[in-house]
Amino acid sequence: YLEMKHIKKHFDELEVLKDISLNVREGQVVAIIGPSGSGKSTLLRCATMLEKIDDGELSYLGERAAYSQNGEAVYEAPGKLKQLKSYYGLVFQNFNLFPHYSVMKNICDAPIRVQKREKKEVQEQAKVLLKKMGLEDKADAYPYQLSGGQQQRVSIARALCMNPKILFFDEPTSALDPQLTGEILKVIKDLAAEHMTMVIVTHEMNFARNVADHIVFMENGVIVKEGAPEELFTSDNQRIKEFLGKFQ
Ligand code: ATP
Ligand code: MG
Repeated sequence: YLEMKHIKKHFDELEVLKDISLNVREGQVVAIIGPSGSGKSTLLRCATMLEKIDDGELSYLGERAAYSQNGEAVYEAPGKLKQLKSYYGLVFQNFNLFPHYSVMKNICDAPIRVQKREKKEVQEQAKVLLKKMGLEDKADAYPYQLSGGQQQRVSIARALCMNPKILFFDEPTSALDPQLTGEILKVIKDLAAEHMTMVIVTHEMNFARNVADHIVFMENGVIVKEGAPEELFTSDNQRIKEFLGKFQ
């Protein structure tokens, strides 16, 4: 569904991703964990084409976005990439809402302008999503009038209103206090129950253990181990044990 093969990425001298291969199947929830600086955000930014890979292959739903030629990544034409980008949505740590747009406009702007959809239909969908997020009374509010947890739920609604096939999250709760974190994790858990395909970089180990079907442990730009949650959480790999030990 999402396929990454032999992905390499460097910044100057620093090899941030060293030959990363990762497959995400339809309906799967994949959690990416690992120490700070291990390359998790870079992997997510490469997977969502916010950042170009140096080498490797990248495809979505069996359609190729980039392939390797003579040790270098070659991307498909911009029109093709634009189409592939419509297959996924992205939720950031810091919500990234437009401060001067109402909640409703934040959610509806891209579906109307980018996807060229009918305004009425998009607004109807936005209302359904806001209700699902427990924010039906906040359509006309501005981001500054909302709590961090509410803002994050708006940004999830905004991503969902594009009808993505895959949702990516980069530490969606790390700017939130524990109670608000719970709200967001509940929303993601509900999406998992609806079989939304998701890739989530997280420091919430209990959440990863309970909600993900597949966990990827990264360190120093490589995938040290991946597998079912129980497999990772009971691994006798010293590096993983050390990392998980910090959360107890
Ligand atoms: P954290 O858990 O702290 O968010 P991370 O696993 O997401 O860490 P990355 O943000 O992917 O780590 O960073 C991996 C390495 O790449 C770090 O050493 C970082 O300093 C470096 N790096 C990331 N982005 C850039 C950039 N745009 N330019 C130069 N170096 C970068
Ligand atoms: Mg990061």
